[in-house]
Amino acid sequence: MEDETVKGLLHKILKSVELLKKEQDALSAKFDSYEKQTNDKLTKLQAQLKPSSEKIEKTKVKEVQPKPNVTSKGSKLYPDIIILTTYPDQFGIKPIPLEWGEHDPEARGPVLASRHPSSIKIRNAIGAYGGSYCVYRALAVAMGALDLDHRPDFQNTEPTVTIGPHPQWGIPDKIVSLDPFGHLTTSLFSSQIAQGLDIRPTIAITKAHMKVPEIENLVKEGKLKVDGNIVLNETGELNVVKAAVEPVWYLPGVASRFGIDEGALRRALFEDTGGMYPELITRPDLKVFLPPIGGLSVYIFGNPAFISDSSKRLTVRVHDECNGSDVFGSDICTCRPYLIYGMEESVKEAQNGGAGVIVYFRKEGRALGEVTKYLVYNARKRSAGGDTADNYFLRTENVAGVKDMRFQALMPDVLHWLGITKIDRMMSMSNMKYDAIVGSGISIHERVPIPDELIPPDSRVEIDAKIAEGYFSTKKAPSKEELSQVKGRGWDDIQH
Ligand SMILES: [Zn+2]
Repeated sequence: MEDETVKGLLHKILKSVELLKKEQDALSAKFDSYEKQTNDKLTKLQAQLKPSSEKIEKTKVKEVQPKPNVTSKGSKLYPDIIILTTYPDQFGIKPIPLEWGEHDPEARGPVLASRHPSSIKIRNAIGAYGGSYCVYRALAVAMGALDLDHRPDFQNTEPTVTIGPHPQWGIPDKIVSLDPFGHLTTSLFSSQIAQGLDIRPTIAITKAHMKVPEIENLVKEGKLKVDGNIVLNETGELNVVKAAVEPVWYLPGVASRFGIDEGALRRALFEDTGGMYPELITRPDLKVFLPPIGGLSVYIFGNPAFISDSSKRLTVRVHDECNGSDVFGSDICTCRPYLIYGMEESVKEAQNGGAGVIVYFRKEGRALGEVTKYLVYNARKRSAGGDTADNYFLRTENVAGVKDMRFQALMPDVLHWLGITKIDRMMSMSNMKYDAIVGSGISIHERVPIPDELIPPDSRVEIDAKIAEGYFSTKKAPSKEELSQVKGRGWDDIQH
């Protein structure tokens, strides 16, 4: 190419660049003026919204500078650098190995969820110990009532009876919502705890006596006998072994139980907990999550070793929390009567040489929560035509969007943790519970409905609606016409 042509080209390019720059400057100026206008408008608007100076005088308060890292006592809370989240390839990030479903606890490894500076880089689980109670722990730390460096003294906290190990503990998809080694943490991983790792048990097992008025009546009526071992005396005092279990979710296993993608599960958990756990998104290498929800309790009647012994008979009730009925005796549902009936039959099974188990899940109001539950109660009682069984589920769906969020898919895990392989008497009419248990490989020989005489009149609405909806298959389903005739108590009889 000749020099003249090159020069000409360069000149053209320079011209274009100059032109572009001019256009950009013009645009920039326009944008600045627009921004100024908007800012001016905003300032004006803010001025209008501001309370008058007189008002300010009246409401003037001393400005307090928040000190985000200091307790009320003035002591420092956390290290100055806030670690918002971590990434798998970040410097120093090396989670201690955790092989979910490994039968050998040493190969399985401990669940380490602590964000303490000594653990944050090696932790292998997202979330926090304690289920929903981690929020109260945060309050205690913020107030300065709890030292961040406090380590639990685990001396003499070991289980009072032996549970497991059972073969189910080594099958990765059998147990995905609790840590089967959760009660053995302090003995299995004592050396890591001694090294300063903040590893905590997620299950505790203890012994107790319990007294329930209905059981006392059954003893007095001669329907339950005193044996001095399970029923201790004439007051109906019961001897029981009980376990408290906090949730520990193996995310790939939980996702597969519900037939969903692990990524979709992580995203939903992240979003619907208000973005509380960024590591659900940033740490796909961490597969275990301790969700901030309630756990479950297990009550064992009779010899705990018999539960997993298939030559012994076993009675089981799996009960979902209903505080209003279970504790406060509300008669709008059958929850407490069925729970007590489950206890009675469990005690009888134990007295006959078998064992009985009650599992109590913190899933209040079909896991919709008690606020939703009470809103639905109001909507039901205020329905035109009264609280009828044909409208029972419709009102729940109107308020909550769904009629039930208990999703029993994770429920059988606790039965596998206990080593249960078959249930002789299942004290439940629920098809969802039955299908989940049988589908997980545990056979059920008999399903025992609640006797009619134990059903409070106001709860007929619930029972009949559930039968019609296919919750229960042990009774003949009523027709739509029959359902509209089943009516609960109105409010007119309540005088304050
Ligand atoms: Zn209830």
